[in-house]
Amino acid sequence: MKAHDGIYLDGAWRPAASRDVIEVVDPADERVIAQVPAGGAEDVDAAVRAARATLPAWAATPPAERAARLAALRDVLTARKDEIAETVTAELGSPLAFSQAVHAAVPIAVAASYADLAARHPFEEQVGNSTVLHEPVGVVAAITPWNYPLHQIVAKVAPALAAGCTVVLKPAEDTPLTAQLFAEAVHEAGVPAGVFNLVTGLGPVAGQALAEHPGVDLVSFTGSTAVGRRIAAVAGAAIKKVALELGGKSANVILPSADLARAVNVGVANVMSNSGQTCSAWTRMLVHRDRYDEAVTLAAAAAAKYADRIGPLVSAAQRDRVRGYIEKGVAEGARLVAGGPESPRERGWFVAPTVFADVTPDMTIAQEEIFGPVLSILRYEDEEDALRIANGTVYGLAGAVWAGEEAEAVAFARRMDTGQVDINGGRFNPLAPFGGYKQSGVGRELGTHGLAEYLQTKSLQF
Ligand code: NAP
Ligand code: MG
Repeated sequence: MKAHDGIYLDGAWRPAASRDVIEVVDPADERVIAQVPAGGAEDVDAAVRAARATLPAWAATPPAERAARLAALRDVLTARKDEIAETVTAELGSPLAFSQAVHAAVPIAVAASYADLAARHPFEEQVGNSTVLHEPVGVVAAITPWNYPLHQIVAKVAPALAAGCTVVLKPAEDTPLTAQLFAEAVHEAGVPAGVFNLVTGLGPVAGQALAEHPGVDLVSFTGSTAVGRRIAAVAGAAIKKVALELGGKSANVILPSADLARAVNVGVANVMSNSGQTCSAWTRMLVHRDRYDEAVTLAAAAAAKYADRIGPLVSAAQRDRVRGYIEKGVAEGARLVAGGPESPRERGWFVAPTVFADVTPDMTIAQEEIFGPVLSILRYEDEEDALRIANGTVYGLAGAVWAGEEAEAVAFARRMDTGQVDINGGRFNPLAPFGGYKQSGVGRELGTHGLAEYLQTKSLQF
């Protein structure tokens, strides 16, 4: 795979000050496919300085011109979509069809939405005798995970640029090639030098230096709750703004009136896609006791269909972690009805599509985020019981409700402590705010709510 041996700084690829490197591995066959710099504090400092220096000019650029650059970025991403899909498949391991349909296509839709929003957003409003100006927050530190490598980047960088902010990106160490491709696209789109900068590197080194840097005004982080907590503490001490998209343990609530087969099949597909490495995946399926056995049979059959279709997990560490959870589920008394901890293949970090029945709310696999292709099916007695189970974790990122009538599902969804709920299999909407209640995060991404994270207000009184 093609890789740059520098960092993208102030509009050009330049050698990193740090001599350390990251080896990029293909999770499907465990082969090293490329090498990129592991930037250090000096590299982060140079990138933040570049972003700071160019901030006044970019902040003063008319929104229509910022929108034009985002439209150009959308067009470059569209022109290079096959290369994006191939790169994501090489470093994340997802099947090529999924990389094309999701990993390449969704970021194009999100970039397009911000090209549009930047042009139309009211950056000024009248409130009584005041004019309120919505101004860029400043220099943004974007720290992203590997699970949707390009989407996570675009969901931060596009609204930041639309708002007039400048950015330093530290992408996940496992998927730096997609980030380099994105930097090329930003360059091709004619975004001025210094507005966007990329430092590949390790979280505890480059990531931490970036979060701590006094030249950063906002830290926008997506990743684990453990790292998010540390970043929030660092940002809090420096009175920096922070946006956190963290873990999840979302509930798929199947009410007794629902089309059971559809709810189960869509639910299983939701968990197995991207090998379960989706923060918003509905990893807990809640089924009424009268329909429980039928649901378990359907889910086991649905999961088996993914055995040959599923990609590997991103790394050996992630594979081991997921296997550990499967072993824990067995040890705590849950019943395996599909998959299990054994490796389904000789090479590559694969985990079989796994389904647990007889899962109780107190079990580890019902409480902790597994981040692999593992579904837990829980039994409820009545609606109040279902609600208590659905809301009974520290997380609150997403969820689903299925019922015979939409209104019945909506009534239940209103009582869920979670940021997004799909009603009877509702479609993904790139304009809908995405983010967590409780320990799933702080702030929202996508659409106008995502743009607002990168703006601060100034009021002028007349
Ligand atoms: P992670 O370990 O928290 O890493 C996320 C990012 O933070 C990576 O770029 C990582 O660098 C960096 N990082 C690690 N330690 C850091 C530190 N001390 N200071 C600053 N940055 C640091 O998470 P992950 O394992 O990559 O991703 C899985 C987790 O992300 C899951 O919990 C999942 O739910 C969550 N997630 C949430 C969302 C959402 O939108 N809510 C979306 C996707 C994923 P390295 O790559 O070098 O470790
Ligand atoms: Mg990590």
